[in-house]
Amino acid sequence: MPKTITLLGSTGSIGTQSLDVARMHGYRIFGLAANSRVEILQRQIEEFHPEYVAVVDPAACEKLDAALAGTANAPKLLKGPEGLRTLAAMDGPDVVLNAVVGIAGLPASLAAIESGHDLALANKESLVTGGHLVTDAVKKYGVKLLPVDSEHSAIFQCLQDQNSAKRLEKILLTASGGPFFGMTTEQLRGKTKSDALKHPNWNMGAKITIDSATLMNKGLELIEAVWLFGLPEDKIQIVVQRESIVHSAVQFADHSVIAQLGVPDMRIPIQYALTWPDRLPSPVPELDFAALKHLSFDVADDETFRCLAAAKKAIRKGGLGPCAANGANEEAVRLFLQDKIGFLDIGRLVEGMVDSDSFGGDYTLQDVYDCDRMARDYVKAHV
Ligand code: NAD
Ligand code: MG
Repeated sequence: MPKTITLLGSTGSIGTQSLDVARMHGYRIFGLAANSRVEILQRQIEEFHPEYVAVVDPAACEKLDAALAGTANAPKLLKGPEGLRTLAAMDGPDVVLNAVVGIAGLPASLAAIESGHDLALANKESLVTGGHLVTDAVKKYGVKLLPVDSEHSAIFQCLQDQNSAKRLEKILLTASGGPFFGMTTEQLRGKTKSDALKHPNWNMGAKITIDSATLMNKGLELIEAVWLFGLPEDKIQIVVQRESIVHSAVQFADHSVIAQLGVPDMRIPIQYALTWPDRLPSPVPELDFAALKHLSFDVADDETFRCLAAAKKAIRKGGLGPCAANGANEEAVRLFLQDKIGFLDIGRLVEGMVDSDSFGGDYTLQDVYDCDRMARDYVKAHV
């Protein structure tokens, strides 16, 4: 039976690649959600005929409503953040794929899980900001959490043998190093938005591309891995793998290391999250070892890349520390993309936020939202 999917964040980089996978395997789309790109949504509606479409930006929702007027079998529209949550909770799909960017994805993740849906998760910010809320809900509602992030998919793939998985000792989380690998603080000082938006191996949304340049992405992924795989931060080693061929590895008690490799193409991990535990043919090219010739490894420089140092401090503090780091980062990246702050300011602001409090202890969803707002206010006050 072909799968039925609700896809949140359908107009983005992961969203459109998820629809490539859906097209290839004839999956049905129950619901689509996006923030504002009406023209892309309209094309997706024409091709996939979803029953529901949630548009978070109210003006964009009205624009889409007008554009669909008179169309036969037009989907029902849901508006605003509430519409996104409603769609995530609706019965109909076999799996909800969350490819929204930022903390805006958290309520949708929780709504999907609490309605009993398996969740394919690209939105790493859900786990970074609300890790214990998300993982507790997954246990309580007995659903599957399927990682889409390439590194976490790799680790998940390496842990499919249950007997070995019990003996997991260490995770080797790989990082491309981003466009500024090897640079000194002085060399980073003048880096602009257009320098930072040139990623060597991956073509991604703007926010995660900046996160890759600052290494915040690897910090967020470290936190994501702690929640997904249950190892403490000091058992997760970040390894720079410049070619983005080794997507991550695990080490077991006998010091055997198992890695997952492939060309850098998100359609592999997206598809695995949708077909797990099965594997289906993929349009992604084979890895050509003869052409590749060599793989290089290096260490990640958290002395220079302060976002990575700040993310490590945040997960060690626990509680709302990662949420505060994430909120500061989302706001700082927003300002950097508007040319209002410099590249090094992102790390300064994220680290300043993390250093400003102890953050420990349990939290509720309201605490997460309050902490996120506080972190954004901190950044605005310290630019
Ligand atoms: P993107 O910017 O290309 O797309 C983001 C999507 O989220 C769009 O559809 C947009 O409409 C939607 N969106 C934005 N703000 C929203 C809001 N407030 N409410 C609801 N929807 C909103 O981002 P992306 O690169 O596709 O990344 C999406 C997520 O996947 C991020 O969490 C990112 O870290 C993660 N991820 C991306 C990649 C990649 O290759 N792009 C790889 C691994 C993980
Ligand atoms: Mg990743």
